[in-house]
Amino acid sequence: MRSEPAVTTLVPTMATVEAVRRELDDTVTLSLALSEPSLTPTPGQFAMLWAPGVGEVAISYSGVGDGSRVDHTIRDVGATTRALTTCEPGAELGSRGPFGRGWDLSRLPGRRLLIIAGGLGLAPLRPVVEAATAGTLGTSSAQLLVGARSPDAMLYRDEISTHWASLEPQLTVDHATDTWKGGVGPVTIALGSAIGDPATVEAIVCGPEIMMRVVARELMDRDVAPDAIQVSLERNMQCGVARCGHCQLGPLFTCVDGPVLRWDEAEPLLAVRER
Ligand SMILES: Cc1cc2nc3c(=O)[nH]c(=O)nc-3n(C[C@H](O)[C@H](O)[C@H](O)COP(=O)(O)OP(=O)(O)OC[C@H]3O[C@@H](n4cnc5c(N)ncnc54)[C@H](O)[C@@H]3O)c2cc1C
Repeated sequence: MRSEPAVTTLVPTMATVEAVRRELDDTVTLSLALSEPSLTPTPGQFAMLWAPGVGEVAISYSGVGDGSRVDHTIRDVGATTRALTTCEPGAELGSRGPFGRGWDLSRLPGRRLLIIAGGLGLAPLRPVVEAATAGTLGTSSAQLLVGARSPDAMLYRDEISTHWASLEPQLTVDHATDTWKGGVGPVTIALGSAIGDPATVEAIVCGPEIMMRVVARELMDRDVAPDAIQVSLERNMQCGVARCGHCQLGPLFTCVDGPVLRWDEAEPLLAVRER
């Protein structure tokens, strides 16, 4: 039987928007100062962000801070994300969390880490990228592979070319422009040269489900083990604490048993239609 969630997981902590950084036409990063410190999130966890009077949505931490200051990178796709992405500095929001199972970083020491992102999937990976550039993960090596629809849809372009350059980023787009210097095609075109010895690889992958499926298939075709591939499943989540059942996939509640799962756990579940 599941343990009862603490009451505080159901009541939002108020947070002040300290800074708003525009990333893309439809995407911003909010830096939040929480009025009461929460547990420090681990990379890959998420919060339920509440836009008062509008709604509450699951949003990953794109910066894990120290529990009182966190970042979220948010794409405007509907009413609640519109309210969040149009916040000005000084605005008040609610935040519940951190929730869920993040990336399993305990597997990384001594391994070759491949961080593989598609589109907005780079947001939940950003704290891992930052730890990898800081050299705190204990990996033998690390590389970043990012795919996007087009150059102007590539998240964190400045950070990729400056602070993250030590991860030898391999960038690909579906539709290039005349000035584009990266690859053209799916992110998998960069995998062959990135893998090296497949027995040493740990891959963490985030993006649209179809992208994660194709990347996992390509990694396994190149002899990376399914349990050395981690993916993040973004199903419709409403309570965040395994009560409402919206995110249930087979026996798992992806809000508490995920969103990060190993590929051998995730693959059979992806055949289940979202509710
Ligand atoms: C664990 C988790 C982490 C997430 N992290 C982020 C993040 O870091 N940044 C971010 O911008 N978004 C993130 N999302 C997605 C975000 O929760 C949805 O975009 C949001 O719920 C949409 O709400 P809305 O009211 O703005 O739009 P709605 O009107 O509810 O939806 C607008 C459109 O978005 C689609 N949609 C709704 N929820 C999702 C979802 N979970 N995944 C894909 N499409 C969805 C709907 O089907 C609809 O087509 C995350 C979701 C989960 C479950």
